[in-house]
This record gives sequence, structure tokens and C-alpha cells, in this order.
Amino acid sequence: MSGNEAVSAKGSDRQVVTRFAPSPTGFLHIGGARTALFNWLFARHHGGKFLLRIEDTDRARSTEEAVAAIFDGLEWLGLMGDEPAIFQFERTPRHAEVAHQLLAAGHAYRCYATPEELAELREQQRAAKQPMRYDGRWRDRDPSEAPAGAPFVIRLKAAREGETAIEDAVQGRVVVQNAELDDMILLRSDGTPTYMLAVVVDDHDMGITHVIRGDDHLNNAFRQLGIIKAMGWEEPVYAHIPLIHGSDGAKLSKRHGALGVDAYRDEMGMLPEAVLNYLLRLGWGYGDEEIIARDRAVELFDIGGVGRSPSRFDIKKLENLNGHYLREADDARLAELVAPHLADRLGRSLPDHCLPLLEQAMPSLKPRAKTLNEIAEGAEFLFKNCPLDFDEKASALLDESARALLGKTADALEPVQSWTVEAIEEAIRRVAEDAGLGLGKVAQPLRAALTGRTVSPGIFDVLFLLGKAESLERLDAVRHASAG
Ligand code: GLU
Repeated sequence: MSGNEAVSAKGSDRQVVTRFAPSPTGFLHIGGARTALFNWLFARHHGGKFLLRIEDTDRARSTEEAVAAIFDGLEWLGLMGDEPAIFQFERTPRHAEVAHQLLAAGHAYRCYATPEELAELREQQRAAKQPMRYDGRWRDRDPSEAPAGAPFVIRLKAAREGETAIEDAVQGRVVVQNAELDDMILLRSDGTPTYMLAVVVDDHDMGITHVIRGDDHLNNAFRQLGIIKAMGWEEPVYAHIPLIHGSDGAKLSKRHGALGVDAYRDEMGMLPEAVLNYLLRLGWGYGDEEIIARDRAVELFDIGGVGRSPSRFDIKKLENLNGHYLREADDARLAELVAPHLADRLGRSLPDHCLPLLEQAMPSLKPRAKTLNEIAEGAEFLFKNCPLDFDEKASALLDESARALLGKTADALEPVQSWTVEAIEEAIRRVAEDAGLGLGKVAQPLRAALTGRTVSPGIFDVLFLLGKAESLERLDAVRHASAG
């Protein structure tokens, strides 16, 4: 049976419920976003539910800022849960209740081993080069043997013989010998539940049918199954997806672009649909299709199609996809999205009345751009004040003879009454003809004079977008500036 069939066979009698369960100890990183996406898509594909759980039991490392950043990132990607998020820490009493239930049923026991004893045990195991495991010294001992009032933890009485197998929807069948799993702690001596217990109880209470998460949690799954079996709960289908690696094959880190999702939006100027499409293709594929928009992904996605080997993060591919989605995006939407990037570049905020011009410019700005930043860079000339700053290449172009040519161009543009792209083109072509020059030779200094740069949208569009008065003012400023 392939992983795919395993999923549908097991999940068929229940409504699919998936979850994304981030620990709020940092931003929503790209790997987390992909896990959220796969869970979201799987639920949508099967007409099920997608839930969120914030695993904030590590009080020292969990922060409100991280929770906010995670929600913000998920919202941007359109991956919010179908119900309000569950906060794990609030459910502590319920976790403890299950530990006590297991104790009462004989599936767990009180362990009074002191920290010193355990340290000594670890030391002996280390010296004997044995794996470090709790040896079950209180498993069959009567609690009355413990000193009165001594602190204790509650441990799971795990199976010692046989093996535990998981039919993982991505990894296939994975087997662990039960002798390798020790009796893990469920409740600490201060009465707080361990992470392992909390995850299992929450997944059960939330009705999770499919646990889709990073394969760094595969080992945990065997231990978690121990609790599930002891409680007699239904086992979820597990799907442990390979982690994302950097383009050099090493584990993804900041250096590879493993940034918070907000950085893709704010610093790199990506569209959420591009990030989603990229994340989808990172580890999952459908033939050669590169462009797979959300609706189509819902239609096609199944967890059995996720590969077993780690995928490599490639920022170039993400940029190319982003370029594609920029070209498809509505111009008014793009104008709004570009405005803050443009404001950053200009060092001032862009008044709302500038948006229509930006929108109008979009068809000539977006064809070559891969990011919103690049669009903003291309649009900057429209909103600069005269006299412009010229980059090095542009100033080099504006020599004596170029200035003379610009004078002729200005004279030809002056009488143009209706400022249309066609009328502008006609006037410029005439200047080129009269001077016996190719159009490019006229366009180059003109572009430099009007934009301060040597790269811009088409020159007729530049003139049109700037408007007649601004165009002539910029030409004038160059003509009358002293050479050098
Ligand atoms: N909180 C865990 C993490 O952020 C995920 C646990 C799980 O999905 O079971 O890695």
C-alpha cells in the first residue's frame, strides 16, 4: 500500500482535522509556513478542518511578540485556522488530569528517583557507553517505599517488549524496538505536564486525524503513541515531512534566507501567492507544473505526493515565481503594495493621490520586476523632485552634445497639445530623424535626464507618466545645469 492509500484508507471514516502547532519562541519561519500550508491544503482537499495551536508551555522562551508574528504571517498567507487558536498552556489542568487517569488505570506510576540518583545513573550509562535511559526503578515498586512527602514525577509505563510501528504517510513504515523507549515523564514533580503529554492530549481533544509536521518530530511520535495507546485513543495518521535545506544542502539557516515570513513580505517584497506557490513546490510536485495557484493546489494536493528527501531552498526560484505573480496581479493592488517600499526609498511617505499615477505606471514597471522592491526602484523617478540625482552612468551620458540634443527634444515636445503616448512618440521620432540618429541615441540621454538613471520603463511611457510640465522642467534643469 502506498503512503497515499494509507492516508485515505485510515482517514476515510472521520472528517479530516489537521493542525499547525508552532512554539512561539520566534517568528514564523519558512519551514513552519510550509508545514502550515501542507496542513491547510490537506484539510481543504478533503473538505476537513484546519486548526491552530500555540504551544506556549515553555514559559521562559514563549513571547507574545512571537505569537503576534506567527498570526501575522499566517494571516498574510491566508492560512489562519478555521477556529480560534488553542493556547496549550491554558490547558495544563486537562493535561494533568490525563496523567492522573493513566496513573489510576495502572498505565503510569509515581517515580521518586531524586535528581542525584538520576545523575548517577546517567554517569554509569555514559561510562559503560550505554544509551542514556531511565531504568524503570520505580516501575514496580510500591509508592509506600518512598519517604513520606517526597516529591515524585509521573512516568508512563511503556511497553518493554515488541516494537512500535508507524505507517507514516510520507516516510512509509517506520519501526522502533520498544526496549529503546524508556518510561518518559508525563507530569513533573511540580505538577506541570511535559510537552510530550500536552501534544497528545491536545491532538486528541481537538479531534486531530492527521498529524503533518517536520520529520524532526518522528522520534517523538513513537513516544506519543505510547500515551495514545495507553489511553485507548484513536491513532492519528502521521505524515512527517522532510525539513528544508539550504541551496548548499546544509540545514536551512538565516544565511540561506531562512528568515521570518515577514521579511519576505516587508524586506524582499514578495507576494503571498508567490510564497505559497513556492512553498508548495518545495517537497511536493505535480508533474512539471511550476505555477500552481491556491485553488488548483487544493484540488491536487495530497500528502502521499510529498517526497522523502529534504528539499533545497532556492531564493532565485522564489523570485521567478514572484515575478510571475507580479505580472498577473491587479495594478491597483500592486500600487498599494509598492507604496510603502517606495516611501522607504524616497525617505518620505507617499500621499494617497500618488497611487493612481503608480497604478497607471504599473504595466510598464512590472514586466521586468521580480519583487515589489524592484517595482519601487523603477517607480522612484516618478516621485522625485527636480533637480534629480543622477547615477554615475546617467551623468556620464549627459555631455555637451547630449544637452544640445535634449534642447531640440524639449523644443519638439513643447508644442505637443494632447499628451498621449502616440503624440509623444511622433515628436521624439521626428527629433531622431532630423538629427540623423537612431531612436536609441535620442532615448538614452532623454532617459538619463528624466529619470536620473539608464534603466527605466519605455521612454514614451516615462514622458507620458511624468506629464508634460514635469518632463519639460526636468529637461530644462539638465539643459541649464553647468557641465561637469
Ligand atoms: N511545537 C512543535 C514545533 O514547533 C510542533 C509539534 C507538533 O507539530 O507536534 O516544532
